[in-house]
Amino acid sequence: MDQIFDVVVIGAGPGGYVAAIRCAQLGLKTACIDEWEDSKGGASLGGTCLNVGCIPSKALLESSENYERVANKYSAHGINVEGLSVDIPVMISRKEKIVESFTRGIAMLFKKNKVMSIHGRGRFVKKKKSGENWIINIKSGDKVETVEAKYIIIATGSMPRPLPSIPIDNEYILDNQGALALTKAPKRLGIIGAGVIGLEMASVWRRLGSAVTLLEAMPNFLSTIDEQLAKEAKKIFTRELGLNIETGAKVIDIKSTGKIVVVNYVDSNKNQQKLEVDKVIVSVGRIPNSADLGAESVGLKIDDGGYIQVDTHCRTNLIDIYAIGDVVRGPMLAHKASEEGLAVAEEIADKIANQTKNLPAINLDAIPWVIYTSPEIAWVGKTEQELKTSGVKYKVGQFPFMANGRARALGEAKGFIKVIADANTDRILGVHMIGPYVSEMISEAVVAIEFAASSEDLARIVHAHPSLSEVFHEAALAVDNRALHI
Ligand code: FAD
Ligand code: NAD
Repeated sequence: MDQIFDVVVIGAGPGGYVAAIRCAQLGLKTACIDEWEDSKGGASLGGTCLNVGCIPSKALLESSENYERVANKYSAHGINVEGLSVDIPVMISRKEKIVESFTRGIAMLFKKNKVMSIHGRGRFVKKKKSGENWIINIKSGDKVETVEAKYIIIATGSMPRPLPSIPIDNEYILDNQGALALTKAPKRLGIIGAGVIGLEMASVWRRLGSAVTLLEAMPNFLSTIDEQLAKEAKKIFTRELGLNIETGAKVIDIKSTGKIVVVNYVDSNKNQQKLEVDKVIVSVGRIPNSADLGAESVGLKIDDGGYIQVDTHCRTNLIDIYAIGDVVRGPMLAHKASEEGLAVAEEIADKIANQTKNLPAINLDAIPWVIYTSPEIAWVGKTEQELKTSGVKYKVGQFPFMANGRARALGEAKGFIKVIADANTDRILGVHMIGPYVSEMISEAVVAIEFAASSEDLARIVHAHPSLSEVFHEAALAVDNRALHI
């Protein structure tokens, strides 16, 4: 196939597939190349997010939380269930069906929008000269084909960060892919890295019966989030969920005997320790997928961390080449990747139409984060630590879920919402939440920050009663010491 397109997107994760659909909607002739394969060797669109990330993890979190509710929470409502059992293979196959329906859904969306979907690995061939198109080789098995396009969007995503000399076999030593495919809860599960994946996977497998130990290298738990949230989360996860979390742990090696796994590490008191478990999950971060793209053959700039260098509009150093999502700076989140995809598609369509609309850049300061533990953790904007370091004067308002009628009725009343506002202007600088369904509530905080709202604005907006959102309202009132229900 030798085909010429307006735009070729490399990677069909939430960055790439969204960019491709938007390009096509805007009338551009678009192709999207992706190499992901399902267990049967067929193309499976949607990248990390749909195949082994956001969606399968949330499916298992939901299933395991339902089990946990019936097992440990329903009796408080007067509902007693006898003979409760859990069928993990059914849970896993439910998760797989959800993944399959979504990956197929992307293929259908491509068809509907006339995006040409090409299966294989994309690679730059040579630097283009003025007036020429970029040329990309696509390798699939022994077959190599070539496509040309004026514009290229690189959306190649990321992969798990390996621990030096510790190979993942996905049988005993697992990455996220293996962690999402276990058909039995290991009796003893070790997790290296108590970050987002570590905590979400710990929640799933602890609820399903594993004794879970997390070894975290940093001295503080969840050291990048608001300190107060991190403290509350650690208290709940250790006391109530029963996670064993060791911070300041330096892993020396991990050895699998084929039956058990032994983790040798140095603890925070500098004593050498040994952790014996049945499986171990390595979740120590992710690295950008920028190798073997042919970047050197075209002179594409990549930084020391492997991130493709881009400006605020995701433009690389090369003319007409953009890069988005996990392969560039900023949080490695699906919604951030998708928004960059939309913005880049619109900029390219403008250029092709010879327009210069000066489209805004994505505001990386207003990207919401969610950790889907129970209770959930969500935040947007600045933490108190960041504001202290930068010398900004601020005020804080905080309100607990315990004083909220809806949370008490749900039986999920742990946690709080904290609003941080500028001490002089009252503009909201950060919102930090730990509690039930805060993944849904954080959007109100994002809107507030994007619209430069003050805590006074939020305090004067009517929130439905009884609803969890009243906690946000009260936290805004608390900035001015006028919370009502406490
Ligand atoms: P990816 O989704 O990684 O997609 C990149 C695609 O490009 C892949 O299909 C890859 O095969 C393909 N590719 C790479 N190189 C080439 C090449 N040369 N040629 C052809 N194809 C190529 N984020 C959230 O926002 N919310 C969550 O709840 C969440 N949960 C997560 C849970 C887990 C367990 C993990 C691992 C991640 C999670 N994430 C979550 C992060 C999220 O998955 C990523 O931020 C997101 O997928 C990044 O999108 P992307 O399009 O940049 O890249
Ligand atoms: P992470 O950065 O969230 O956590 C990694 C943790 O491992 C950190 O706490 C780090 O200090 C620790 N660590 C690093 N090296 C270590 C070592 N040698 N020994 C022990 N601990 C070590 O990364 P992750 O959990 O692997 O997830 C990767 C990314 O995927 C996340 O940062 C996020 O961007 C994305 N993700 C998002 C969600 C979500 O939005 N709910 C869920 C899962 C993943």
